[in-house]
Amino acid sequence: MQYPIEVETHAHTIATAHAYSTVTELCSYAAAIGVKGVCVTDHGPILENGVPHPFHFVNLKILPRRIHGVLLIRGAELNLYDYEGNVDLTPEQTADLEWVIASIHTPCLKPGTLLEITQTYLGALHNPAVDCLGHIGQARYPCDYEAVVQEAGRLGKIIEINNNSARMRKGSWENCVNVAKLCKRYGVRVCVSTDAHYHTLLGEWESAFSILKEADFPEELIVNRNINAFHDYILERKTIDIFEG
Ligand SMILES: [Zn+2]
Ligand SMILES: [Zn+2]
Repeated sequence: MQYPIEVETHAHTIATAHAYSTVTELCSYAAAIGVKGVCVTDHGPILENGVPHPFHFVNLKILPRRIHGVLLIRGAELNLYDYEGNVDLTPEQTADLEWVIASIHTPCLKPGTLLEITQTYLGALHNPAVDCLGHIGQARYPCDYEAVVQEAGRLGKIIEINNNSARMRKGSWENCVNVAKLCKRYGVRVCVSTDAHYHTLLGEWESAFSILKEADFPEELIVNRNINAFHDYILERKTIDIFEG
């Protein structure tokens, strides 16, 4: 089963040291394959010793709204670095960001107990700057998925179904299916992402689709199924209109 995804919600540029494309290359490739919007979500500064600098995120506002006709959404993938769910940019530094993912990466947070990881995600959900939890199905960081999914729903936040999680993170597929089933049960919205670290990986959603298919997931709960639905979600969360300015 194919799902009609129009917006990439998670993509990295060369501002992340271990990613290899520019903003322009991402948008040019997105235009070529019919993806209508790209969220540029480079890693927060603590993953790679201060790269990118916080100025990278603050200055995203200088970028044009459309590049090669593709809507550019100014974002970040912030690092959860303690079991309270704190992230590595300040409220001032995230004030103008339009789409903020919070994720756990091994260099930034040691695997903890089920309770610690659950508290990490619940803390992140309660941060007003955070829109979405990234790749929560990853095998090294199990949590109380039911509690996390329900709280995301209560707060109107998004759970990510990450194509890389299923493909690259061993043992995560079952967790991701479980997360998708819980989102369906509780009516919690998800986004489908590639987490691309190179532009030709955009549009490669097959593993994420296999997760959704296994959960018999309803299309209407996918927030990036089309550009208008994603636009509406951002408007629901903030005063920013990504179709303007
Ligand atoms: Zn990540
Ligand atoms: Zn990422």
